[in-house]
Amino acid sequence: MKIICIGRNYSEHAKEMNSAVPEKPMFFMKPDIALLQQNAPFYYPDFSNDIHYECELVVRIKKQGKSIDPKFANRYYDQIGLGIDFTARDLQQACKEKGHPWEIAKAFEGSAVISSEFISTEELDLSNISFSLYKNDKLVQQGTSADMIFSIDQIISYVSRFMTLKTGDLIYTGTPSGVGPIQIGDVLVGKIGDKEMFTTEIK
Ligand code: MG
Repeated sequence: MKIICIGRNYSEHAKEMNSAVPEKPMFFMKPDIALLQQNAPFYYPDFSNDIHYECELVVRIKKQGKSIDPKFANRYYDQIGLGIDFTARDLQQACKEKGHPWEIAKAFEGSAVISSEFISTEELDLSNISFSLYKNDKLVQQGTSADMIFSIDQIISYVSRFMTLKTGDLIYTGTPSGVGPIQIGDVLVGKIGDKEMFTTEIK
């Protein structure tokens, strides 16, 4: 399975990163070993001193498709989960400056928290899915799919032009503003609406 992550999909987050708002979706990938499932703890890696959380809605692909028209994209998913795109911000900054690829900053082991449970799209208003991240019980990120620059359907259509999407692939749809650093001992709790989706302890 593939893990596809959209960058800069919320204008407030692009602003806080001093990045331009993109005209097309921008994506990168993580390997399957990046997944951190079933509330497993995250072990702070020794190669970074500035790991940031980025809480994101995650779409699970339910059937294979290539070059999917946006108006049919909704046939390719029916489950939404929540995750974190952990980012080694110090390494990412160095990669950006040198024009290097992002893998060491984004695709490392355990960098993709994913909720055990997914919510059926029938139970959600896709145009306004609210989600939030708490760090040590304090609200640090709050977002809604209403603020996405590119909708889930537009993302699926765009990515599928470049690569066939297959059943079980996950798409992290970008993070709202409020990203920030973690420290050993922190506990991150992600919610969709009021529903708790994951708990991740930093060790
Ligand atoms: Mg992200």
